[in-house]
Amino acid sequence: MDSHSDMGRTSGKDTQEQTEFRQYCRDWLAQNKPGEPPVRLPLTALEIMTEAQMAYLKSWQKAAYEAGLVGCDYPESVGGGGRTGCQRIANEEMRAARTPFFPNLVGLGMAAATIYYHGRNELKERLLPPLFSGEHIWCQGFSEPGAGSDLASVQTFADQRGDKWIINGHKVWTSLAHFADWMILLLRTDKSHKYEGLSYFVVPIRSNLGKGVTVRPLIKMTGETGFNEVIFEDLEVDDGCRLDELGKGWQVAMTTLTHERDAGELVTPAAGGMRNESAFNATAIALPGLARNAERDDGTAADDPLLRDRIVQQFIREQAIAQNMRRSRIPALQDHPMRLPLQNKLLMSEVAQDTANLAMDIEGAGASLYVGDSNAPAKGQWPKSYMNTFGFTIAAGTSEVQRNILGERVLGLAKSK
Ligand SMILES: Cc1cc2nc3c(=O)[nH]c(=O)nc-3n(C[C@H](O)[C@H](O)[C@H](O)COP(=O)(O)OP(=O)(O)OC[C@H]3O[C@@H](n4cnc5c(N)ncnc54)[C@H](O)[C@@H]3O)c2cc1C
Repeated sequence: MDSHSDMGRTSGKDTQEQTEFRQYCRDWLAQNKPGEPPVRLPLTALEIMTEAQMAYLKSWQKAAYEAGLVGCDYPESVGGGGRTGCQRIANEEMRAARTPFFPNLVGLGMAAATIYYHGRNELKERLLPPLFSGEHIWCQGFSEPGAGSDLASVQTFADQRGDKWIINGHKVWTSLAHFADWMILLLRTDKSHKYEGLSYFVVPIRSNLGKGVTVRPLIKMTGETGFNEVIFEDLEVDDGCRLDELGKGWQVAMTTLTHERDAGELVTPAAGGMRNESAFNATAIALPGLARNAERDDGTAADDPLLRDRIVQQFIREQAIAQNMRRSRIPALQDHPMRLPLQNKLLMSEVAQDTANLAMDIEGAGASLYVGDSNAPAKGQWPKSYMNTFGFTIAAGTSEVQRNILGERVLGLAKSK
């Protein structure tokens, strides 16, 4: 399979190619940034619930791909832009233009790089262009009822029959499976070895619904769906859907997780809101206005010195994260590839939760009114955001697991038993 190259993650000053590409992105976005969506959008791609939301977001991803803002650093032979270090530029410009997010979160963030590094050429050429354009939506079948943090315990099993595999098992928390055309699937092909018994497949989901695949939506405490259970009952797939060698599933899964944490060579195409801008960033900046509008017996919440102090502290924490992220542009600080991505995931998810919690303290009794209630302060977004932030501290590895990895692999501390 292809070896890693330096085509994606470059740091420091823009090259001539990157400078010209940045200007191109700016010009294109000034002309083509989508207007107000015709439907109410969720905070992130993880909560897309309706066909109308999906259709709007798909058309935005398609337009951005056709303009060369998605998959820029992948070779042209697999549908990419054939550029060097340009996805980061496109991301920065889309974020600055506050474009909508892309719906193919799993496809762009995890499946693309995994297929690129571990797939046969035929698979790359067939699967990557519709993944980049958003025509095919992808989901990730890793977690199971008995395998989350301890991912290598997955029990979904593929039994070989000639050049076919028969898959049986039960995946859970599968984001976007209710819209998915394809799944990246970690499963077991050998029950006698924990790690060496794992293999990795790409599996058509939508075309097999009712024919070996069942998708059951799970309802979150926000009232939204977004993730699902996926049941496999004698699903037949070709051996050509396997990535890398038999028994190499764990190594392939590490490529997926490295890119999920945005620590891979290939930068994830991320539009404005894909990084959960409304949930993760620039949130404390909204709190003074919220406090000035929150009535108290003797004035507003903004008169309360304790709340004022908490708002400032929260703003400082958010600014510290933003400054920390800028360190990724300085090559001399890249001593360990996982350091900044893991720090950012851990801190952003926990700070976002604290910001939403503080917003609800500011709203007081008003925080009990939810989205859809015309009397709810800030349209009821803060209690919803607060509940969603619990998912951010669990998905892609829980905070406890991130701390373990940072301690053991980045800081070199003794391994926990
Ligand atoms: C919003 C959301 C979206 C998700 N989307 C997907 C998806 O698309 N595909 C997919 O495959 N999965 C998905 N997941 C699942 C997610 O990856 C798992 O929930 C996560 O890895 C934790 O696994 P678990 O739920 O089985 O908890 P467990 O692993 O059972 O953990 C339970 C508790 O024990 C703690 N714990 C476990 N091991 C350790 C340890 N070694 N040291 C210290 N503490 C530990 C955990 O931190 C946690 O608090 C999603 C989850 C969420 C919340």
